[in-house]
Amino acid sequence: MNKFDFRSDTVTWPTKEMREAMASAELGDDVYGEDPSVNALEKLAAELLGMDSGLYVASGTMGNLVGILTHASRGDQAIVGEDAHCYTNEAGGMAVLGGIVPKPVSIDRMGMMRLTDVEAAISPDDFHYPQTKVILLENTFGARNGYPIEPEYFASIKDLARHHKLTVHLDGARLFNAAVALEIDAREITQYVDSVSICLSKGLCAPVGSVLCGDSDFVKKARRNRKVLGGGMRQAGIIASAGIIALSSMINRLAVDHDNAKFLAEQLASIDEITIDLETIKTNIVFFEVNENSFLNGRDIIRRLKDEHNILLDLSGSRLRAVTHYWISREDVEALIQGLKAILTAGPRLQSLDRVAS
Ligand SMILES: *Cc1c(COP(=O)(O)O)cnc(C)c1O
Repeated sequence: MNKFDFRSDTVTWPTKEMREAMASAELGDDVYGEDPSVNALEKLAAELLGMDSGLYVASGTMGNLVGILTHASRGDQAIVGEDAHCYTNEAGGMAVLGGIVPKPVSIDRMGMMRLTDVEAAISPDDFHYPQTKVILLENTFGARNGYPIEPEYFASIKDLARHHKLTVHLDGARLFNAAVALEIDAREITQYVDSVSICLSKGLCAPVGSVLCGDSDFVKKARRNRKVLGGGMRQAGIIASAGIIALSSMINRLAVDHDNAKFLAEQLASIDEITIDLETIKTNIVFFEVNENSFLNGRDIIRRLKDEHNILLDLSGSRLRAVTHYWISREDVEALIQGLKAILTAGPRLQSLDRVAS
């Protein structure tokens, strides 16, 4: 891995302890339900999330898709935040494979929909409309600086859902970042949802995999949907064993990543050319923009950080994104800040030379 890879927490390699566990993992055929490592991982995830059962899946995208397919059918409608990962970043899977119609609702700067907007998005019982079946939530909210949303929001969405006989699915790819940042047990949030998918391969460092949890009837149906998608894996314990370590020893240390992100955000906020929503940065994701009157745009900065400093950031639209994780130290964050300052203060002359050269 590049020493300064801030593009995402998905780039994290497994730890030494994970590699050792993988080498000696007990295995079986998980499609027969006989892989002891997968079974142990599913049980552990379900316990941590206060659910009956868990289902090991290949990715967060698969966790959400299997979850949504289990909650809704062709022609049904799913209410979803306009910038939610499962609406914007999962290749339209619910529509492509499920015939499920997403109904996007606007979200605020923390990633929350207004209750009145959610209620207005629910279809009336009329054959003209796709019938609303499920509300899709996300925590932390990736496109909003990974903002950790409080349990109260989930409680009020759950009330509304119960009133209209809808189910609630939570994309909890980074749910443990939320729980750690809010200093609560993840179950304080998941008690208000019918299903939740968590990622093992982001900040928790496992190489592969997510777990979808819910009640036993839900997971039984979800297991069939996973099979439909080709997601039944055989000796999957070889990767699930790393997931067990992810859940048993990597959660609390996420606070270190949050501290590093906060430090980064504060330093960025002190640079004149940079705009950043400091207040919403509470976990490990830092979005920022270079002011329009600056002589560099986001793409120039990404390129020069890479070429001149060997530092990788992500670009989405005009926003730059830096994500902290297990393999990023405080010194690495300092290197990023120094690199950015060097580029921003080098002056427009260099840039105009670049433009001439290309
Ligand atoms: C990463 C992520 C996912 C799943 O991504 P995969 O790359 O499929 O594992 C889902 N939701 C959110 C919010 C994410 O950040």
